[in-house]
Amino acid sequence: MMSYPCLVCAWPKLKEPPRSPSGGGSYEICPACGYQYGVDDDDRGITPEQWRRTWVQQGARWSSAGIKPPKGWKYQAGTAGQARQASPAAKKTIVLKPLPPKPKAAKKPAGKRAPARKNPG
Ligand SMILES: [Zn+2]
Repeated sequence: MMSYPCLVCAWPKLKEPPRSPSGGGSYEICPACGYQYGVDDDDRGITPEQWRRTWVQQGARWSSAGIKPPKGWKYQAGTAGQARQASPAAKKTIVLKPLPPKPKAAKKPAGKRAPARKNPG
């Protein structure tokens, strides 16, 4: 199966290309940084660069509650176009979606089902 890198955080396993050749967003939400292509960029006007800066300022936490990060996952600064200069528009304040609480690591096989979370993200 093909996978695609996130333009924000360089997470390498997006299922869809962030942008189709015709320019439309994939509507896929990156599990690492939480950026949703076609929504956060097109509808909210937040560029990947802007999202990255704010996300990193907030600690670059894994975003998805439904998808577990790989063991030892850590955002690697410099892998996603860090060298590019921020545009003047990047100075505006952005409000990110609230990040979910950190998922707890399941160390032993759960005998009982964990209570289902309402957030499917
Ligand atoms: Zn990402």
